[in-house]
Amino acid sequence: MKVEPTVLLADMNSFYASVEMAHNPTLRGQPVLVCGDPERRHGIILAASREAKRRGVKTAMTVGEARAICPDAVCVRPRMSLYLEVSWQIQQIARTLSPLVEPYSVDELFIDVRGAEHIWGDAVEAAGIFRQRVWEAVKVPCSVGVGPNKFLSKMACDVEAKKSPSGVALWRVDDVEAKLHPLPIGKMFMVGSRMERHFRNMGLLTIGDLAHYPVDYLMRRFGLRGAVYHNLAWGRDGSPVRPDSLEQTKSVGHSVTLPRDYHHSDDIELVLLELTDEVCRRARKLGKAGRTVSVGLRAYDLTRGFYRQTTLPSPSNLSGPVFEKAQLLFRRHWDGRPVRTVTVDLSGLEEDGTLQQELFRDMDRQDRVSRTMDRIRDAMGTTAIVRASSLLPAGQARDRAVKIGGHYR
Ligand SMILES: [Mg+2]
Repeated sequence: MKVEPTVLLADMNSFYASVEMAHNPTLRGQPVLVCGDPERRHGIILAASREAKRRGVKTAMTVGEARAICPDAVCVRPRMSLYLEVSWQIQQIARTLSPLVEPYSVDELFIDVRGAEHIWGDAVEAAGIFRQRVWEAVKVPCSVGVGPNKFLSKMACDVEAKKSPSGVALWRVDDVEAKLHPLPIGKMFMVGSRMERHFRNMGLLTIGDLAHYPVDYLMRRFGLRGAVYHNLAWGRDGSPVRPDSLEQTKSVGHSVTLPRDYHHSDDIELVLLELTDEVCRRARKLGKAGRTVSVGLRAYDLTRGFYRQTTLPSPSNLSGPVFEKAQLLFRRHWDGRPVRTVTVDLSGLEEDGTLQQELFRDMDRQDRVSRTMDRIRDAMGTTAIVRASSLLPAGQARDRAVKIGGHYR
């Protein structure tokens, strides 16, 4: 049976640097570096613009190393809340193509357009439309891999789309032997540095080597994971694009697109209250309570609006305290423009049952920081949090980390 390629993996190019350039036109065309602490030589480069990369600067270099290669680079401080805001906006654009959207990291997301291909022509055309909409709305370029599953779309993006002038690449199962198998094993999605070492020690240097290694041996050594790797090496991946996977565990959120523009604050606050009730109900159903309340408002064209958050004094799943914060955010940030889409999120979720115990436990700050980071790592994978934590002053790490969590639904 032939599986149609309907899965897109979109990856924003030099995301933080691109957002900075979108917000500051004087930076365009320059080698721009987003650095943790530009004054400190050991600060880490979080993102480099295309111009800076062309000169040899790489992400995760220190500021000192980058300045040595590219002395005229413009260093800017990271603005995480802005990047998360844009990330959220990009997710909303993805949802105009299909409801099956799964954020993978702050600048990558999977979109499954199955069932909606005919609307967009096919998946490759949908990829083009997505790129165009993202560019028009937030002025951030992206690369899109297209495949019959998440694995092949990610590989198509990393290996081909990022280098292609069109920014889009399609890999089918038929392409596996020609395109996937010659690649070094370390380039394989889902293979981390530890697995790479295991495979290399077994003499498996390319993905093709892994594909042709007897699956029984792989399973004897790695259990069921061995079978998964074998299948991936043949381009077979059964994991679905799960729109709710993060929402269920880390946050509950609810959005509504109104039938018409709302102009009056009373009307909008009523919608906020309804959404808050719904969100709190869902949190209670899950046996969770949340610490962070977020509110998003959008105009009809999705390009204007805001997404802001604030923290509750203690985790809650009750409409009273949550709405109080939602209302506060709304009154503080709404500029009076007509509103079409309203979102309320409750994140930083914790088990409701453990709350009381924690009230009496004198956890020191560092403990809370690491626990928060663990939760975010679980939700988003390790890279996003490594980037953030490696540069933020310790005093802000927890707040920032919570913010990152709050934007993933
Ligand atoms: Mg990227």
